[in-house]
Amino acid sequence: MESFQTAYAHNPDLIVEPRTAEEVAAAVRNAAERDLPIGVHATGHGLSVPLDGGVLIDTGHLNGLHIDPDTRIARVEAGVRAGTLLTAAAEHGLAPLSGSSPSVSVIGYLLGSGLGLLARHYGYAADRVRALELVTADGELRRLVPGDALFGAVLGTVGNFGVVTAVELELLPVTEIYGGQLVFDAANAEPVLDAWRAWAATAPDTVTTSAGLLTYPDLEQLPPFLRGRSVVGLRIAFEGTAAEGERLVAPLRAAASTITDDLRIMPYAESGSIHREPPEPHGYAATNAALRRFDAAAQRALLAATGPDTVVDIRQLGGALREPGKSGAAVDFREAEFLVRVITAADGPGRVPALDAVRSALAPWTLGHQLGFLYGAPAAADEAQTRAGFTPETYDRLAALKAEYDPAARFRATRAIVPAR
Ligand SMILES: Cc1cc2nc3c(=O)[nH]c(=O)nc-3n(C[C@H](O)[C@H](O)[C@H](O)COP(=O)(O)OP(=O)(O)OC[C@H]3O[C@@H](n4cnc5c(N)ncnc54)[C@H](O)[C@@H]3O)c2cc1C
Repeated sequence: MESFQTAYAHNPDLIVEPRTAEEVAAAVRNAAERDLPIGVHATGHGLSVPLDGGVLIDTGHLNGLHIDPDTRIARVEAGVRAGTLLTAAAEHGLAPLSGSSPSVSVIGYLLGSGLGLLARHYGYAADRVRALELVTADGELRRLVPGDALFGAVLGTVGNFGVVTAVELELLPVTEIYGGQLVFDAANAEPVLDAWRAWAATAPDTVTTSAGLLTYPDLEQLPPFLRGRSVVGLRIAFEGTAAEGERLVAPLRAAASTITDDLRIMPYAESGSIHREPPEPHGYAATNAALRRFDAAAQRALLAATGPDTVVDIRQLGGALREPGKSGAAVDFREAEFLVRVITAADGPGRVPALDAVRSALAPWTLGHQLGFLYGAPAAADEAQTRAGFTPETYDRLAALKAEYDPAARFRATRAIVPAR
C-alpha cells in the first residue's frame, strides 16, 4: 500500500483491500463485531490521525468510473484519482471542479470541501455532489441524496461518518482556461503580495487565484532557474479568452520582474500542472486558517511566522464560495475572504512548533479552519481542534449525528467528532 505521506503511517492489525461496496460493508461489520476502530486509506495525501490497531480499508481497488454526458453526472468510486477523472471528463468536453493536485482521490478531496481551481466561479466541489454511497459503522450500505440528514454531514468531515464507496458528481462544460503561474523571487514577496491583495479586492468571480511561498529543493529534476530558490508564485485560473486574461493579469505581471511566466490558454485537463506540486511522496504536517480578511497586518504576521522551512499557500475565496450550497455540506466560514495553508516537514507524532506559531500569529483574523487541510501532527488533534472546523451550531449537529450513526466512534482515525452525550 503506497502512501504520499511518509512521516506518518497507519498501524493497523489488518488491511482490507475491497473490490466492491459489499466487501467494504462486510469488513465494517467484521470490525464492529470485534469492537475495532476503522481507518480509510486512499492515497495518503491527507493522512490526519494514524489508525492504531484495528482495520484499515484501502480503497485503491475501487476503481469504477462512469460518465453520463447527457446528465453531466460522473459516478466515481473511492479509489479513483482526480487526474483520472479530469482526463475521462475531458473526453466528453466536461470537467470536474478539481483542485491543485491530480493525484489526490476524488472522494478524499470532496470529503474535505473540494476547494478547486475555479472555486470562486462555481463554489466548493462538495456542493456539486448529487448522491453518496456510504457504509456506516453498523455495516449498512446506504445511498444518500441531498436532504438526507447524513448527506451534508459526510461532506466536510473527512471520514467521520463511514466509508464512502462512491459518489455521483456534477461535471461542468469547461474545456479550456487561461491560467498558469507567475513566479517571482521571494525577495519580492512583500511587493508581490501587496499587489495581489490590492488586485484581488476587485477581481471578478470568474478568476480564481492563489499565492504560494516556498523554497525549492536543489534537485536535478527541477528546472535550473527554480533549483534551491525561494520564490513567491501567483497561480491563476480564469475562464475567458487569452486577450481578456492578459488584460486581467497585467497589474500582477507588473508587480516585480518574473523568474518564469507560463500563463496561457490550456486544456482544463492540464490544470493540475498550475501549482507545480511535488509528485514524490514526502513527510509533512499542515495547518490552515480561514481568514475574515487578509490585510497588510495579516500579511506581515504571516511572513514573520513563516520562512524557508515552510510552504505557504494563500487562496482567495469569495465569489460563489460565499453561497451555502444545495448539498448542505458541512463547510462553514463561507464569509472568509482567504484561506491560508501552511505545510512543513515533520518527523514525529508530536506537536509541530512551526504550525503552532502560524496559528497564533493569524489568530486575530481567523474564523476557523478546514479539516481537509490538517495533516499529521496527531498530538494536536483534540476535540477543540475538530470543533474549530465548524460553527458551534454545525458542530453540535454533527456530534448528534455521530452519536446516532457512529456511537462507538469507530471512525476516529481522522480529526474526530466526539459523539454527543
Ligand atoms: C499536495 C496537495 C494538494 C492539495 N490540493 C487541494 C486542493 O486544491 N483543494 C482541496 O480542497 N484539497 C486539496 N488537498 C487536500 C486533499 O484533498 C485532502 O487531503 C484529501 O483528504 C486527500 O484525500 P486522499 O483520499 O487522496 O488521501 P488519504 O490520506 O488517503 O485520505 C485522507 C482522509 O480522507 C478520508 N477518506 C479518504 N477516502 C475516503 C472514503 N472513501 N471514505 C471515507 N473517508 C475517506 C480518510 O479519513 C482519510 O484519513 C491537497 C492535498 C495535498 C497533499
